[in-house]
Amino acid sequence: MTALPNSATPPSALRALLSERWERLHERVQAACARSGRRAEEVTIVAVTKYAPLAAVRELISLGATHLGESRPQQLVTRARELDAIAPAALQWHLIGHLQRNKADLVVPHAAMIHSVDSERLFEKLASLAVDRRPPLLLEVNITGEASKSGFAPEELRQLWPQLAQEARVEIAGLMTMAEQTEDPQTARPTFDRLRELRDELAAAGRGPHSLGSLSMGMSGDFEVAIEAGATHIRVGSTLFENLPVEAGDPE
Ligand SMILES: *Cc1c(COP(=O)(O)O)cnc(C)c1O
Repeated sequence: MTALPNSATPPSALRALLSERWERLHERVQAACARSGRRAEEVTIVAVTKYAPLAAVRELISLGATHLGESRPQQLVTRARELDAIAPAALQWHLIGHLQRNKADLVVPHAAMIHSVDSERLFEKLASLAVDRRPPLLLEVNITGEASKSGFAPEELRQLWPQLAQEARVEIAGLMTMAEQTEDPQTARPTFDRLRELRDELAAAGRGPHSLGSLSMGMSGDFEVAIEAGATHIRVGSTLFENLPVEAGDPE
């Protein structure tokens, strides 16, 4: 029998693996939503591609991923330029890692959301760059107080809030945090609860022109707990991209 040119081609091992992981991730998100009386549409899965080779990112896009997270500004820009053109649906790029002020102008045109606004100076820089749209920003909060983490201390943010909320050139879409990495995801729950409570407190103090509706929290190890605590954006990398078959190539 002659093989048909297209349909007889078996899916690659890479595609099969990513497809299974992508589906499984959605099932886990749906289950966590169901447990906490939330709708799955309330949670945006940001696929963190920072360690993923380009071939794997392309596969995930072809499987339907549209929200992609990068931690390095330069890589976000390079990949956005390369992949925006070929993607079947509009891609939304999320910057999740530290942004130096001198790279801000590079990233702003490509980023649908900047999750890692970790200082007043960066916030002001981003406001000064906003021209034809209000870039959606998340203020990163260091809830755990670990020295290795960046972000506003909760008390610092409370004090700065009236001033930040007056800045109409950007959209403060919400808050972002990272929990402490531990074996037991339940230990992250108080961190996530505190981020949500802080958001509620700031909103009660006066939102100004800002939606303040988003909570970016939860990674591969703790996203289910984060969803139960109210996450609107989860940032998931290794669950999707760890230990890929060699055909994917090396991460850049
Ligand atoms: C890398 C990274 C993630 C994804 O972490 P995984 O544990 O690989 O899911 C999420 N958020 C930030 C800020 C990151 O740097």
